[in-house]
Amino acid sequence: MPKLRILLVISAECRQHTFGPVNASSFNRRFDCSSVVFVSIMDSMATRKKYVGKLCQYRWVIKGQAMTRDLAGLRAVRAVLFDMDGVIYVGNRPLPGVREAIDYLTLTGRRFLFVTNNPSTTSEQFVERLAEMDVAVRPEQVLGSAEATAIWLAEKVADHSRPRGPVIVTGQDALKGVLKKHGFELTTDPSVALYAVASINFKLTYDELASMTLAIRGGAKFIGTNPDPNYPSERGPLPGTGSILALLAAASGRQPLVIGKPNRGMYELAMARLNMTAGQTLMVGDRYETDISGAIQLGLWTAGVLTGISTRGDFELASPPPDLIADNLPDLISRFRWADQH
Ligand SMILES: [Mg+2]
Repeated sequence: MPKLRILLVISAECRQHTFGPVNASSFNRRFDCSSVVFVSIMDSMATRKKYVGKLCQYRWVIKGQAMTRDLAGLRAVRAVLFDMDGVIYVGNRPLPGVREAIDYLTLTGRRFLFVTNNPSTTSEQFVERLAEMDVAVRPEQVLGSAEATAIWLAEKVADHSRPRGPVIVTGQDALKGVLKKHGFELTTDPSVALYAVASINFKLTYDELASMTLAIRGGAKFIGTNPDPNYPSERGPLPGTGSILALLAAASGRQPLVIGKPNRGMYELAMARLNMTAGQTLMVGDRYETDISGAIQLGLWTAGVLTGISTRGDFELASPPPDLIADNLPDLISRFRWADQH
């Protein structure tokens, strides 16, 4: 890209004071320019003309490149996928604005789905947990990675007219239960397993690891529910599904096919459940690498919220950044209100 002297960024939401020095420097680097001027479309026409007039002798780069999409386009969003931990709650502490967010989406005819990589809890258990936070949802409005894995596998075997198992599993009861619910026969015999599904297992034994390894080496399709190497606990980060997958991959010499975010399987199942396309769907998450990057690859709208893992700087410096960054859910809904009114 040729050297730019001044970059003018016009956006539905950005102004210099809201972007701050970190973001300005990220634009400097990304577009190889010497200085950056931010103008919001919410600024008056006179202000915008002043900048345009001032800068017309320079190359003018509009949002398209600097910001991925125009906030006003949120009007087109008909469904929202919410990550849970860090968006809806942190540990056992509910975050503000969940009920208001759901009420606004429902009022405006939008659909929503809670989408989590947590493979150890059933949809019914998530519903109970949300009810304790005064958020009433139905089990089909929650999609965890255990259920997503079972649905994905059921669709694949149906597509190829293959039998539903036997499946050898290391994981929690939630995973085994949902596989059975989708018609899969479970086995502990590695010599007969057609599929080997691995997930976090709080009672993992060497024997189970040995059986899983033998099954995978013997040709069973190796599938993981989610890639997370660890999960947060009061004692600090502890081994999660990703760590168990790494062990089995090392032992078997095979890499797993993983369903949870940021892999496409989870988003595709979520959109299919809501009967929505990527251009109609917004993914809301607190962790760029898990929630946002995979959604961007599939062309979903993306919103990073600052109530969990990633900081504003993490989101702003990511390449590409999410479509918008919101302090929290009330802030996100205020963006929807603005877009719906323009
Ligand atoms: Mg999260």
